[in-house]
Amino acid sequence: MMTDTAAHTPDTATGPALRPAGVDYPEFLPGWVWLVGAGPGDPGLLTLYALQALQQADVIVYDALVDDRILALAPPATERLYAGKRGGRPSAKQADISETLVALARSGRRVLRLKGGDPFVFGRGAEECQFLHAHGIPFRVVSGITAGIGGLAAAGIPATVRETNAAITFITGHAANGEVPDSLNWNALAHASPVLVFYMGLKHLPVIVDRLVAAGRSADTPAAAVAEATTPRQRVVTATLGTLVEAIRTAGLHPPAIVVVGEVVSLRQIIAAGARQAGP
Ligand code: SAH
Repeated sequence: MMTDTAAHTPDTATGPALRPAGVDYPEFLPGWVWLVGAGPGDPGLLTLYALQALQQADVIVYDALVDDRILALAPPATERLYAGKRGGRPSAKQADISETLVALARSGRRVLRLKGGDPFVFGRGAEECQFLHAHGIPFRVVSGITAGIGGLAAAGIPATVRETNAAITFITGHAANGEVPDSLNWNALAHASPVLVFYMGLKHLPVIVDRLVAAGRSADTPAAAVAEATTPRQRVVTATLGTLVEAIRTAGLHPPAIVVVGEVVSLRQIIAAGARQAGP
């Protein structure tokens, strides 16, 4: 019989159920950095390699968007270093984070660099790889489910549907200087991409909406925001491109959130209902 404590202690390091056979697990060698995507939040959406890395790392350097339930999958003794960059908490500079990774690897530890979603989708993963490479540190990259896909699915919004979109575009609403990126061709986005998925889009959403509508995208296009997707706090607001800003304000939605614009949003009623029926 399990004791109370056992029932509440996450099964780590050795649990066979967490390490299914049939997977070619690479050895996590001392002195290496593994750059791993943690997915949007729900630990059930982790990859097996991410789980392996959590169980074997000596130190975890994690971002603000990494869910606590995921960090809890590492043994309690594993060192955890917060390297987040969100408002309100002291933010680490990118150069400092990269230096830290190099220093930890050189000290002979197994370093897990854990990032929300996928490390290469608006996650600065490439910059860290370049830095590690330049300093001769061996590294491995493990993809994760990006919020723009996993977050939509959790809200019952399909990323593509054959009848509505043969393309989908991922866009950041926030450039390095804190503004809407200059490099975006709004005319092309408004006309050429049937589905637009914005990361970091809430702050500048009024500007984004204005630019899309001014470029000719119909204000009646279905649109949605999914906040804290795949966490117990997930909230979804659906509206149209023209009414989304107000709907988000009324609902009191806060970042992190994915904003999606396109006909796929209208399928949500059916798919979200089906997902609920299939649930517990
Ligand atoms: N590398 C991450 C994205 C980092 S940029 C990925 O692949 O998902 C940070 C943005 O990601 C947030 O501003 C938000 O737009 C989005 N995001 C990340 N996690 C999210 C979540 N659980 N719910 C909604 N949006 C999320």
